[in-house]
Amino acid sequence: MIPADSPFSLSGKTALVVGASRGIGLAIAQAVAAAGARTLLAARSLDALEKHAADLRGAGCPAEALHLDVSDPNSIRSLAEAVGDVDILINVAGINLRKAFLDFTQQEYDRLLQTNLHGIVDLTQRIGARMIARGQGGKIIYIGSMMSILGLPYIVVYAITKSGLAGLTRSLAAEWGRYNIQVNCIAPGFIETDLNRNVLQDPAFREWVKRAQASPRTGTPQDIAPVAVFLSSRASDYITGQVISVDGGYSTTAIWPFEP
Ligand code: NDP
Repeated sequence: MIPADSPFSLSGKTALVVGASRGIGLAIAQAVAAAGARTLLAARSLDALEKHAADLRGAGCPAEALHLDVSDPNSIRSLAEAVGDVDILINVAGINLRKAFLDFTQQEYDRLLQTNLHGIVDLTQRIGARMIARGQGGKIIYIGSMMSILGLPYIVVYAITKSGLAGLTRSLAAEWGRYNIQVNCIAPGFIETDLNRNVLQDPAFREWVKRAQASPRTGTPQDIAPVAVFLSSRASDYITGQVISVDGGYSTTAIWPFEP
């Protein structure tokens, strides 16, 4: 537990973690709860959320499970009306589809845009309006991707959504700074979750990653969660509009195999 007077403490705050049923979102929900926040875990898989919330309550952390489908405007409206005041909004929900650009159908494009971008924009408007009206500031965090800052093949539509979140982060930070709301984005690298486990556990991938980035391993959700706690806390009050890569150096380093 973080002491309540620490700048990293989330004691007295309510955090809404969207996409908290597994993977990166679950790790973030557990970490913000451990840092002292009352934690609202939202996603579609209500049974899983109820179990995780009960585990947190068992550990002495106030937590509740809420059903939310970010691709459904009615579900977003119901959740926003039900949650009350939120100090920290962490948008983790996302899906991916890996295929050649020419093969994407309109339906696939719409599903990715609706889930990864449009629904999150809608939710940010609704929760953000209440943060502004309440006048006590707030924190908004998006989970982008390396595709928020660079290009990789076969995930063009995903890249459109994650680049969109980076733009949203910067411009919303500029617009809502006057309300003491900080807006930042975490850009995770190769993190082992249900989203990509089959690719990342492939021995060929593991060999490749050793030569592709400074940290010679794939990441875990626990590599991401402490950064989300930091960006939720007053320790980061002077940081806003940033896209922060947590990727073992993939986007910043090149491996140089030649000794001096
Ligand atoms: P998982 O598939 O493990 O988790 C995805 C989460 O998003 C689940 O909690 C899921 O909940 C939720 N979700 C998906 N669709 C919806 C929806 N329509 N409504 C509400 N919640 C939804 O993936 P990760 O943990 O790996 O990914 C989490 C985020 O991190 C995503 O935005 C992803 O793009 C991003 N990311 C992941 C990387 C990685 O390497 N793993 C790298 C870079 C970014 P449920 O199904 O219960 O609704």
